Amino acid sequence: MLDIHKIRAEFPILSQKVNGKPLVYFDNGATSQKPQVVIDAISKYYQEINANIHRGVHTLSQLATDAYEISRVKIQHHINAKHLHEVLFTSGTTHGINLVANGFAAILKPGDEVLVSALEHHSNIVPWQMLCEKTGAILKVIPMNQDGELIISAYESLLSEKTKIVTVNHISNALGTINPIKYMIEKAHAVGAAVLIDGAQAVPHLKPDVLDLDCDFYAFSGHKMCGPTGTGILYGKESWLNKLPPYQGGGEMIKEVTFEKTTYADLPHKFEAGTPNIAGGIVLGTAVDYMNSVGFENIQQQEKELLAHATKQLLEIEGLKIYGTGKEKASVISFNIDGIHPYDIGSIIDKLGIAVRTGHHCTQPIMNYFEIPGTIRASFSFYNTKEEIDLMVEAVKKAKTMLS
Ligand code: PMP
Repeated sequence: MLDIHKIRAEFPILSQKVNGKPLVYFDNGATSQKPQVVIDAISKYYQEINANIHRGVHTLSQLATDAYEISRVKIQHHINAKHLHEVLFTSGTTHGINLVANGFAAILKPGDEVLVSALEHHSNIVPWQMLCEKTGAILKVIPMNQDGELIISAYESLLSEKTKIVTVNHISNALGTINPIKYMIEKAHAVGAAVLIDGAQAVPHLKPDVLDLDCDFYAFSGHKMCGPTGTGILYGKESWLNKLPPYQGGGEMIKEVTFEKTTYADLPHKFEAGTPNIAGGIVLGTAVDYMNSVGFENIQQQEKELLAHATKQLLEIEGLKIYGTGKEKASVISFNIDGIHPYDIGSIIDKLGIAVRTGHHCTQPIMNYFEIPGTIRASFSFYNTKEEIDLMVEAVKKAKTMLS
């Protein structure tokens, strides 16, 4: 059980007022708030050990390097990667996906197929389209149904020996659907295809086990799991990371440089060109420790109750429709009210201190599927409460009355 008062006290921003009202923060899908330990760890780094890493012999450089590499070990254990060098620091999910898509340009041939799902964020669509344009490979889409679930039988029919990579999110940011990725990975492997999982929306809710999933790549962002912005991780299986060419050239990623030829550093440095976000990488480890100290069982229990409470309360509003009604769902509710633009509701409830997301959530194909311009998305975190949901429901009712 969570001690919700203690938890909320750890997030200074949550006691703020916005527009004169207590902040109700339900935009966790966009980015999470940060606990004091994370905020403190950032300033501690700059106050005490700021130095460039991996190259200095002086004490501060050693301390910063050790802290950065200890963070990598924490993340390795957190996601259960077999090897430490399979854990690459990135600036976020987008960076990780682009790194892999760029690498596949060296592997794909015209006529090869890339499968993306209908539920993807733009950052897990566009890099693959760019890859297909570059290589002559063909992009195919795993379709979804009206509940916002992937149609797995259609997925199985799309898979063939032409499929070289399948890319799908663990949890949809727009609808909250939890995809059956373990099964999908198994099926892709049966035809010899690699699988990239976009874990951006999963890591705030669960601890991914990359060995058990047997995925080839798993990308996520730190800022959605209580960590700093501009941080992320790409897990890649050693065999794949050895096969892919480097993404960017520069310092740190080389073994030897001459004007005739450059040889590349071993993993993970081959993919970590330039000075990284050192403070961010270190503090991502602090965030992972924090999430584990709260406990993912507790997080899931709290979020499950919030989801059930909000779903029930919202559905009592006449004309309100929820998108994403599948059985396996994270604590995200996307909804609209008949005849009212989502932006108008979002703007009015913002005046009442309630932060939700409105729009297409970087998932225009999902909005096109439902033939809507966008939705209002409330995404809950373990630090949210049922009382906050009640405030949102009251605010939505008020907005509806004003706009009808
Ligand atoms: N994929 C999904 C499912 C997301 O929700 C997001 C962030 N909204 C991203 C990818 C991109 O993450 P980032 O902007 O942190 O790179």
